[in-house]
Amino acid sequence: MSAAAAPAAAVELEPVIGLEVHVQLKTRTKMFCADSAEFGAEPNSNVCPVCLGLPGALPVVNGAAIELAVRAALGLGCTIHERSVFARKNYFYPDLPKGYQISQFDRPLATDGVLEVPTDGGGIRPVRIRRIHVEEDAGKSLHDRIPGATAIDLNRAGVPLVEIVSEPDLRTAADARAYLARLKQILQYLGVSDCDMEKGSLRVDANVSVRPRGSATLGTKTEVKNMNSFANVERAIGFEIERQSGIVASGRPVLHETLLWDAGRGVARTMRSKEESHDYRYFEEPDLPPLVLGAGWIRAVEETLPELPQRRERRFREEYGLPEYDAGVLTAERDVADYFEATARAAVDAKAASNWIMTEVLSWANEHEKPVAEVPVTPVALGDLIRLIAEGTLSSTAAKKVFAGMVETGRSAREIVEAEGLAQVSDADRLERWIDEVLAANPDEARRYAEGEAKLVGFFMGQIMKQSGGKADPERVSQILKARLR
Ligand code: ADP
Ligand code: MG
Repeated sequence: MSAAAAPAAAVELEPVIGLEVHVQLKTRTKMFCADSAEFGAEPNSNVCPVCLGLPGALPVVNGAAIELAVRAALGLGCTIHERSVFARKNYFYPDLPKGYQISQFDRPLATDGVLEVPTDGGGIRPVRIRRIHVEEDAGKSLHDRIPGATAIDLNRAGVPLVEIVSEPDLRTAADARAYLARLKQILQYLGVSDCDMEKGSLRVDANVSVRPRGSATLGTKTEVKNMNSFANVERAIGFEIERQSGIVASGRPVLHETLLWDAGRGVARTMRSKEESHDYRYFEEPDLPPLVLGAGWIRAVEETLPELPQRRERRFREEYGLPEYDAGVLTAERDVADYFEATARAAVDAKAASNWIMTEVLSWANEHEKPVAEVPVTPVALGDLIRLIAEGTLSSTAAKKVFAGMVETGRSAREIVEAEGLAQVSDADRLERWIDEVLAANPDEARRYAEGEAKLVGFFMGQIMKQSGGKADPERVSQILKARLR
């Protein structure tokens, strides 16, 4: 191939990603009226003149929504602006009855935050948050409800949202996913939103561009929408990076457009050329005064913030001496972390508490699809069980049985141990009898053991524990067995 015909020398490209995340605030009522914001109600049952945009109806700001938005902004280290301004974003769509959405534009609630994203290598990538503003949601178009027609459900119209806009600081699809996981975790800790993508209470638009590595300017971006899970956000961004890289490699320009992700086909397709903000004819909302928050009120909200996951994870390692893995699992969700701390207090042994929660407690919660707070064994009851093991009253094999009984009957560990005679047996005569029974039942192994095959001790331990219904004190049994070997 001649040099002239070769494509432009393969420049290494660097992906650049910024995310816009819409999060539904966990309020009882809508952003500007008193209709219920509940998910899943009978279509068009939660509507009123305000959210339907009927003439003369006036919006009133929902204070609870503002407080949640401020919590989110504080949790993400943003500067809260004591004065912000609502703006009308005008566009036509059948699910937007007013013909505009009340949002915020050039004077948002909060700016300049940061989210520390854990990266694959065990490091941290700080991603700057450009802005957080409050706005109302639109209704929902349902294309599969009525054959050949589109149905409109306006229950969601007017539900409160925050939009959280990152700077283009992300560089890989995996980091974008990690950003979302961390963001969701923080918002859940803060009680701001349930962040359930399936219910649409968290929605992500991914902005993607590529540029020659080392370049200081940004390439032309596209915006990808319509991802219904974090896994699909990652796939869609990966797809879009590849697509743009191919375009750039062939010397064509990337077009500034909005794409829709098709999860079934694994491709993103052009939806429209990208609208610019002037297309929306933003102007200050004439029906609402500026939103003015007192510095004292903001401080008071700040004082109610919980310890956030990253902090808590570090404290779990330092205060309880937990391994990094345990600390990560136990702080993934706030109610698990709360459950752990209460159990550790009751059990005394924090690592034992961690082991029980990471196995039995979380398995039960997962199996029953229930939050940990609804596991029928309270932290205090689990702590008692763990203390029985530490005291030597209960073997760990028997303890599993007791735990199952506690889940089933709600009785305490001590009650079950007594009722079912599960207390550990250390009495030498009783232990010798179990040992003799097992040796007699396995003459072959018994002979080899007597001849010095020491590794059979494990086999016998298992058999003896079984023979005793988990009640034999394993330490004493192993002592007796070893003595017999000699
Ligand atoms: P728009 O006006 O198109 O909405 P903005 O500048 O407001 O664009 O940015 C929206 C989002 O896109 C932000 O999250 C930002 O970080 C991201 N973004 C902006 N420019 C780029 C780019 N060239 N590549 C990737 N992401 C970008
Ligand atoms: Mg945008």
